[in-house]
Amino acid sequence: MSAWLQTKSWEEAKEAIVKSKGVAIVPIGSVEQHSYHLPLGTDTYVAMTIAEEAAEKTGAVLTPPVWFGWSPHHMVLPGTVTIRPEVLSELTYDIIESLNAHGLNKIILINGHRIVNVVWMQICAQRAQSKLGCTVKIFDPAYMSKDIVKELGFGPVGHAEEVETSHMMARYPDMVHLEKAVDNPIKDTPLYSVDPTYEHDTLCYVPSTIDHARAAAKKSGGCTGEPSKSDARRGQIYHDHLVKNLVSVVEQLQNA
Ligand SMILES: [Zn+2]
Repeated sequence: MSAWLQTKSWEEAKEAIVKSKGVAIVPIGSVEQHSYHLPLGTDTYVAMTIAEEAAEKTGAVLTPPVWFGWSPHHMVLPGTVTIRPEVLSELTYDIIESLNAHGLNKIILINGHRIVNVVWMQICAQRAQSKLGCTVKIFDPAYMSKDIVKELGFGPVGHAEEVETSHMMARYPDMVHLEKAVDNPIKDTPLYSVDPTYEHDTLCYVPSTIDHARAAAKKSGGCTGEPSKSDARRGQIYHDHLVKNLVSVVEQLQNA
């Protein structure tokens, strides 16, 4: 039977909640431009595929994804949908409140949208923990793959770059058009990086200005990084590493 909550009857959901030992996974991503070679839903798809495999392995309840994220800097290209972070925080709070009311009091938010979604997720998670008394964890693939990304020799985190392109090639090969990819190598900007593995002094993240986004759109169709170096083999190793870590987080919560 599918792990997705939306496929179950309420009776099946009741049974799944007992089996889950109170753990629910909520995949959250974005619908935003991912250059010429990846679909708009990339960030949600990557969150969904990690979440689905870990839920199948552990019995955690898997909710439908939150498809939209905060993407003001990608509005320069068609198809991007951006939701205000305060609205996303409220929406996710209501999801957590509903799950908690049904006995799912250990929630894992999977963030497929990287650094952009983290701040509002932290605010939402803190509020849910203090007001509802539940436990909320944020699982972000960029933070949960520092070791393996180094080991596999992936370039830095940018946008529609080698890491997410390889992951998509491994999991959703039909949606990737690598022949259309245009590289836009990441230059070391003094005192600024969006990559959580960056080892040097850096300012904190603020979404790019529209001028900056327009320049990237013109240069590479919105890509930052070198997607031409992507491959499915490393994408699968990266995926397996994330699933392993997510399974560990679920089990820690189930046995707490
Ligand atoms: Zn992405």
